[in-house]
Parts: sequence; C-alpha cells; structure tokens
Amino acid sequence: MSQDSTFDRERKDMVEYQIRRRGVSDKKVLKAMLRVPRHLFVPEQMKELAYGDEPLPIGEGQTISQPYIVAYMTEALKLHGRERVLEIGTGSGYQTAVLAEIVKEVYTVELIPELSDRARAVLEKLGYQNIHFRVGDGTLGWPEHAPYDAVLVSAAPASVPPTLVEQLKVGGKMVIPVGTDFQELVLVTRTETGWDEQRLIGVRFVPLITVH
Ligand code: SAH
Repeated sequence: MSQDSTFDRERKDMVEYQIRRRGVSDKKVLKAMLRVPRHLFVPEQMKELAYGDEPLPIGEGQTISQPYIVAYMTEALKLHGRERVLEIGTGSGYQTAVLAEIVKEVYTVELIPELSDRARAVLEKLGYQNIHFRVGDGTLGWPEHAPYDAVLVSAAPASVPPTLVEQLKVGGKMVIPVGTDFQELVLVTRTETGWDEQRLIGVRFVPLITVH
C-alpha cells in the first residue's frame, strides 16, 4: 500500500476511534478532521506517529495538540461556516487548517517566527487562501481585524485575558485553556457587560508566554 493511502486509513481510524466515539458529533468538525493531512504538520521523523492519540513535539519547545483536543475545542465554538475566527498559537498550523476548512476567515497569531513561517509554508502549499498570519504576542489579539465571531487559544494563560474577550462580538465564544499547574478548558461567552465562563474539561497545554 502507498504511504498516502496508509495515512488516509490512519486518519479515518483517528476520526472514528479517537474523536467520534468519544462524543464529538459536529459533522463539520468530523469532516474537517478527515480532510486535513495531519502528517504534513509534524516533523518529518514523526510522520508515522502523526495519527496517534497524543500531542507531539514540533520544535522550539512547542507541541501539536492531541487530535481529540483539536476536535473538542473546535466543536465547542459551534461554528456554522460564515465566521471570522481569531486563533492564538499557530504552532504547527494544524488547528489553523481545521478551522480554515470550516469558517470563512482565520486570523492566526504566533509568537515564534520560525513556527509561523513553517506553518504558513505548509498551509500555502495545501492551497488555503482564507488564513492570515501574524507574528507577535497573541495575548494582545489582533485588534485591527476585531471583532471576531470566535476565538480559539491553544496555549494556557493563568487567567482569561480581557484583551481577547474585548475582541469578540457580543454573543461570540472563546475556547481557552486556563491555569498553571492544573488547567481547564474554559468556554467564554462575551456579554453586553462582560463575559460568562463555563468550565469544560481538564487539559494540559504549553503556557501562553508573557512577553511584556
Ligand atoms: N494549535 C497548535 C498548538 C501549538 S502549541 C498546534 O496544534 O500545532 C501553542 C503555541 O502557542 C506554540 O506554538 C507557542 O509558540 C505559541 N505561543 C505561546 N505563547 C504565545 C503568545 N504569547 N503569543 C502567541 N503565540 C504564543
């Protein structure tokens, strides 16, 4: 069997056993996870592990999130397809691709230039035209394109950054890991006067690096 068809089969199994059977049911999310070739987002020597049930190192001390967590976070945003979404922590660009499959525009911010450049190269080669890249401190968001319908953060701050909430539309949702030693995924909904928080599941993410 060719390497590509092996990866296709592994990807189908990943979606079925790691994602759908664990309760992710949003058809758009499942379809996106079936389409995005995860093995192209991990370092060459880790391709064989790309569809495993775990995060993997991507260099610069960072990791590509576990497939289930990518699916879970994406589903939590309840996306329909017309949204403009802000992503903090481009990393490998894998989560970026999953979002870009579903929504209209993705604005993605990464602190480490080498990771942003690598992700951009992969995503451009795959033909995505609805992704906008920025290198910088994601804690500040990307105010020039705000407000966003949704925000997805894939590195953990100690508490919810108000600057990011302010860049959401009223009624918009943000999914974000929060905490230091112990982290939880939090679903934030922007309200007229502030925001509501709903705690989802326990998680482990790299820290959101504080620059200033
Ligand atoms: N979704 C990515 C996850 C990458 S890990 C993937 O699946 O590949 C989290 C990323 O957040 C890392 O690339 C890290 O460099 C980045 N990061 C950490 N602190 C940041 C900050 N303050 N601003 C922007 N990106 C940050």
